[in-house]
Amino acid sequence: MEEKNADINLSLQCINCGAVLYYEPGTSYLKCNYCGTSNEIERSQKEDVRSLDFDEFVESTAIPPKDGMEAFVVQCKNCGANTTLPAGITSDTCAFCDSPLILSMAHNERILKPHYILPFLLNDLEAEKRFRQWLGNLWFAPNALIKNVKQIHRDHFKGMYLPHWAYDTKTKTTYQGQRGTYYWVTERYTTVENGQRVTRSRQVRRTRWHSVYGQVSCTFKDVLVLASHSLSRKVADRLEPWQLAKLQVFDERYMSGFRSETYSIDARQGLELAKVKMESTIIGAVRRDIGGDEQLINHHENQYSNIKLKYNLFPIWISSFKFKGKLYQIAINASTGEVIGERPYSIAKIVFAIIGFLILMAILYVLLQG
Ligand SMILES: [Zn+2]
Ligand SMILES: [Zn+2]
Repeated sequence: MEEKNADINLSLQCINCGAVLYYEPGTSYLKCNYCGTSNEIERSQKEDVRSLDFDEFVESTAIPPKDGMEAFVVQCKNCGANTTLPAGITSDTCAFCDSPLILSMAHNERILKPHYILPFLLNDLEAEKRFRQWLGNLWFAPNALIKNVKQIHRDHFKGMYLPHWAYDTKTKTTYQGQRGTYYWVTERYTTVENGQRVTRSRQVRRTRWHSVYGQVSCTFKDVLVLASHSLSRKVADRLEPWQLAKLQVFDERYMSGFRSETYSIDARQGLELAKVKMESTIIGAVRRDIGGDEQLINHHENQYSNIKLKYNLFPIWISSFKFKGKLYQIAINASTGEVIGERPYSIAKIVFAIIGFLILMAILYVLLQG
């Protein structure tokens, strides 16, 4: 045990001075904060990113997992998020809900080793810059909030790796439905013109329905599901896309200096969420297959085969704050720089804006009439 820990730490030690190293976002090296030396993360030959068989994976992830690694984990008593901590942290608040973490409760745990990691591409300075731009667009936010949020600076953002499942699968869907084809008929009607009752005709659109049935196949690659509940799903889904081309075979060194969350939605539960995400694509394929001008789907059944998955970590900068007793999260995708923030609206400001707009319209109307 001791031996193994020493081994892990060795790769996080500066080759020059022995200090603890931190991963430098956007690079392939660890940086020493003491002597400034860059320590390259040497990679084994470029391995292709590949997925694992779903069934085999589910069987192999008993607790504790066979393919695991040791991590220093603490659970937030308020929101339940399980996160790892960077070395040397003595006090901390939860990145997701801003509650104090009880570090005396932190412990070493054997957790499932991720397959791939998307290293941080943006550092805290760049994250703060994106955040300032986002702030400039805070229309209709309450003044008190703007004052609060303006005080958030880069120290309030925590670098966090979020657990994601990525699924690949082929689907076969049998369906039964109706194809609607438009046709036009001439309809006669009576109306009054110049005080006279007259008969006129007009073209009216009708739909003819035919029963249809058939089968469609779809191929899915990297359907992503956030494997935890800590980040609101509204925020999580809008953080996509991720720069998957920059995915690296997992290496603990990319985590140095950052936090990471462990999964709380397992691979089976995640698959059900992935199926929900795939449904709109499948329905679209069925509609195209039915053809015609309108489609009705009475019944359809999906079969999923060749299901594969990857367990990935994706990087975000996150800050959470409370405003009038409600929690708000601001997350920045640390690969694309996209800022997704929850924010309250000021009803008063919106009402005033609408009134202002109506007054302006009234003035314009009067001017144009005159
Ligand atoms: Zn050094
Ligand atoms: Zn929390």
